[in-house]
Amino acid sequence: MQVVPVPCLRDNYAYILICEQTGKAAVVDPSKARPVQAAVERMDVELAAILNTHHHPDHVGGNQKLLSRFGQMRVYGHKSDKGRIPGQTDFLEEGDTFSFGNLTGEITHNPGHTSGAITFYIGDCAFTGDTLFAAGCGRLFEGTPAEMYSSLNEKIGSRPENTRLFFGHEYTEANLRFARTVEPENKAIQTRLKRVREMRRAKQFTTPTTVALERATNPFMRCDSPELIATVKRHDPQNDGSPAEVLRVVRELKDKF
Ligand code: ZN
Ligand code: FE
Repeated sequence: MQVVPVPCLRDNYAYILICEQTGKAAVVDPSKARPVQAAVERMDVELAAILNTHHHPDHVGGNQKLLSRFGQMRVYGHKSDKGRIPGQTDFLEEGDTFSFGNLTGEITHNPGHTSGAITFYIGDCAFTGDTLFAAGCGRLFEGTPAEMYSSLNEKIGSRPENTRLFFGHEYTEANLRFARTVEPENKAIQTRLKRVREMRRAKQFTTPTTVALERATNPFMRCDSPELIATVKRHDPQNDGSPAEVLRVVRELKDKF
């Protein structure tokens, strides 16, 4: 499978997934139809499915126009997003599968950013939407810190270390600048920030990341780090140090950063 990132809007990524045996493709989170349509036509593939990680407009905004341009196709999203994802045909639950061409993948339900957020897994790739960003996570609009903790650590983070994680927004540099403030002694964060700055200067995308790299540098996946817990307790002396409570305070600090 080939994965082609398509930058959309200010900092969104849509992704086109290509089944090389059949020439059929799926698109993850088409914010806008036009850049996706241009990429599909340039690569001469047949768009066969839309995969929506959640219902926010910057992830589903292109659905309707793609359906009118390319005709009826499968539109996959979580079952609880019924009525919130334009054109949705498949209402998925934990462990359900999706397919296009000869390829089949599966999803996990990742509440936290929204109640219907899901991650699509296929081969060694995962498409996390706004649940996991490189060195960060989405805001808690419809979920609790405990849900986000579980989604990031027990679902996405429990995949094999080399799983490639394709995320919804190019926030990596700002996320690492924040990560450095909550874990100043973490060398992996410093090294990664340096590399990401070089990449952004060269106008390169920082997507995808990996499970291993996130475990080393993403504060929301490091809730057991003594340095991170110490930072949290400085801001919130009553904090009990449990993973969900650590994540809650780190998320609050990030919101204010
Ligand atoms: Zn979102
Ligand atoms: Fe988004």
